[in-house]
Amino acid sequence: NTPLHELDPEIAAAVDAELDRQQSTLEMIASENFAPLAVMEAQGSVLTNKYAEGYPGRRYYGGCEHVDVAEQIAIDRVKELFGAEYANVQPHSGASANQAALFALAQPGDTILGLDLAHGGHLTHGMRLNFSGKQFDVVAYHVDAETGLVDMDEVEKLAKEHRPKVIIAGWSAYPRELDFAAFRRIADEVGAYLWVDMAHFAGLVAAGLHANPVEYADVVTSTTHKTLGGPRGGIILAKKEFAKKLNSSVFPGFQGGPLEHVIAAKAVSFKVAASEDFKERQRRTVEGARILAERLTAPDVREAGVNVLSGGTDVHLILVDLRASELDGQQAEDRLHEVGITVNRNAVPNDPRPPMVTSGLRIGTPALATRGFTAEDFAEVADVIAEALKPSYDAEALKARVKALADKHPLYPGLNK
Ligand code: PLP
Repeated sequence: NTPLHELDPEIAAAVDAELDRQQSTLEMIASENFAPLAVMEAQGSVLTNKYAEGYPGRRYYGGCEHVDVAEQIAIDRVKELFGAEYANVQPHSGASANQAALFALAQPGDTILGLDLAHGGHLTHGMRLNFSGKQFDVVAYHVDAETGLVDMDEVEKLAKEHRPKVIIAGWSAYPRELDFAAFRRIADEVGAYLWVDMAHFAGLVAAGLHANPVEYADVVTSTTHKTLGGPRGGIILAKKEFAKKLNSSVFPGFQGGPLEHVIAAKAVSFKVAASEDFKERQRRTVEGARILAERLTAPDVREAGVNVLSGGTDVHLILVDLRASELDGQQAEDRLHEVGITVNRNAVPNDPRPPMVTSGLRIGTPALATRGFTAEDFAEVADVIAEALKPSYDAEALKARVKALADKHPLYPGLNK
């Protein structure tokens, strides 16, 4: 029982350095967040030692009486949080949840219709090199080149033409709410299942700030670590009639033993997500994104060729369009990194540059909102970003402003050794 720092100083040093990076920089990758200490405590608990193939009350191993309690609490809480009839909390990740969901709804070779990866979709929605693209016949819909919004006329046209088995609504990089009612109507018209992947916006749904896809979809998947703010992992929610198929698709279909320590941590995060504090945090998250969009569409920034796709945001992120800027996505990401802000470059629809370079940035506010950022703080961050993306910028001055913000909102103060 030697502590990590003694047993493995090399790994301990990497962990310490990562803690320092998280504390001293501003994390604005839209898919990231900071899990509460209680979530990390559950995730680092003795539950990591337990095998528990099966489901609560129906396990293939003895000694599951306590993990059964934790897993059942996780199931009950997440059903309550989203108003779902069925929940599976075992998927190891968002991609695992999506794999299990897709194979429960369709057979290899069936047609699926999802948002193009280059237009904001996720790998698991039909990308060529992903299981979804390799094993299914993929048709992709797009966002409109002018408005930046998902083209529902195209969705309807493609659905009628290709009669997909599954229509996928969900995204990794899109700044607006999807019209779930329209997706449902189209799915019903062509006899398709509707699967919503709410990985990005699940926290907003839990806080009542975004339409709830559970009311429209046959199956809803999510990660638990993005806006939802829990441990890394996945969940599946669905109507009762899909329970058996989904359970057997997760186990034994794709997974063996569930990660009961992560499931316990998921349960803790669902408790947090039902709280007033969480709602308030999600309100600051959305407000912060709106403040960013406003600043990055101001005339002085537009002059530098910087713009915001769709002109604004309804959610926790914005997509910056650099097609008219002298900076490409990689250069802009590097510049923000230099001043202490972490974001990721992101392809814009019909991007003229290759995927490793891109002409855009995806900037999100969940992690900073968790850190306690207020509207005033977000206005300051937005101004730092605006200045950094201009042709001439004062790196030292911007670094000092970033440091002042980081110092104002200490992260995990108790964890420093
Ligand atoms: N679904 C969407 C919409 C996502 O954005 C992501 C991750 O970025 C995933 C699924 C996959 O989640 P994970 O990285 O946990 O596999």
